[in-house]
Amino acid sequence: MVPNALNLYGLDRTGLEELFETQGLQRFRARQLLKWVYHQNLLDFGAMTDLPKVTREWFNENCHFSLPEIHHQQVSVDGTVKWLLRLDQGDLVEMVLIPERDRNTLCVSSQVGCMLDCSFCSTGKQGFNGNLSAADIVGQLVLANRYLETKDQRVTNVVLMGMGEPLLNFDAVLAATNLMIDDHAFGLSKRRVTISTAGVVPGIRKLQQVTDVSLAISLHAPTDDLRDGLVPINRKYPIAELLAACTDYVEHLGPARKLVIEYTLLAGVNDQVEHAKGLAKLLAGVRCKINLIPFNPFPGSGYARPAQGDIENFQTILMRQGFVTMLRTTRGEDINAACGQLVGQVDDRTQRQRRHRERMAAMQQEIVQWR
Ligand code: SAH
Repeated sequence: MVPNALNLYGLDRTGLEELFETQGLQRFRARQLLKWVYHQNLLDFGAMTDLPKVTREWFNENCHFSLPEIHHQQVSVDGTVKWLLRLDQGDLVEMVLIPERDRNTLCVSSQVGCMLDCSFCSTGKQGFNGNLSAADIVGQLVLANRYLETKDQRVTNVVLMGMGEPLLNFDAVLAATNLMIDDHAFGLSKRRVTISTAGVVPGIRKLQQVTDVSLAISLHAPTDDLRDGLVPINRKYPIAELLAACTDYVEHLGPARKLVIEYTLLAGVNDQVEHAKGLAKLLAGVRCKINLIPFNPFPGSGYARPAQGDIENFQTILMRQGFVTMLRTTRGEDINAACGQLVGQVDDRTQRQRRHRERMAAMQQEIVQWR
């Protein structure tokens, strides 16, 4: 293998077709390669018998398949699995598999840390150290499928709700999700692949031009005043702009599809009756379903999870207004695998860690205990 060999997990069908073309080969060879890799689980170019011999040789010399390294695996009492993965550059990121009766949902990371610094998210407190490659993202799905294979199962749903803001790593996320929904590769339903964003409006607009996977937005507040303090990117792209972009996106998905609204409930901050009513008013006319996520605490966060009664009350108000409203049950709590608890290990380039040194110290200790 040459030092700069191409990791083919990072190329979607179009990427492979372009690669084949530069080698003077027909584009349809890309489909043949995809089927070997994703349907037959065959990574040995030499054994891909329907490819010309010279092509196989060229691949052998110039390309490879490589996966993130599993640094640590933890299985929760409820079956949730969290992996700490080491990427090429040494960064550690997390992914979480949530098995349920009728589905296996994989929550994948798209960035090492996150730049957005939402006030209640522990990933944000880690700072940011770069993007995952498309191969790093696809690799997470390959690894989770390998784990499930031993139980005769596969990942059925993918949510880009791990570490990072997917729309700030647009090209890699697009290539990876293209492979997820390609029948020649993973073949997942486009309804079952969901990109979640804190509200990168230009990213949503761009996404609409190139894909039709599902979209979730992290709303968390019914007013700009409140959201500005929780999700700082709101100051750049306020709620009205965000909802306009989302409405256009779901229009483009067609009448049977819905936008997912994520709303993390923070005790005394955004969980009161007035907030539920405000949310119902804001979302009137938006084709959506609402996922309520009770806050998952982490050391030094300064927030608390609301009392069960408040959570249920909030849900009831929305349901009475006709919204499909799910309460996300907390999974993998014993292994810190819940939403907003994914931290990996980030060599911060934004210096945010300095501002959060105390919180970090507590969290780092948690990571050290893993080893
Ligand atoms: N950056 C993307 C992807 C992260 S998804 C986004 O913001 O959508 C993770 C979801 O969990 C987001 O809705 C996020 O706001 C929420 N979340 C973050 N920290 C949390 C916490 N401590 N408790 C509950 N939900 C949290």
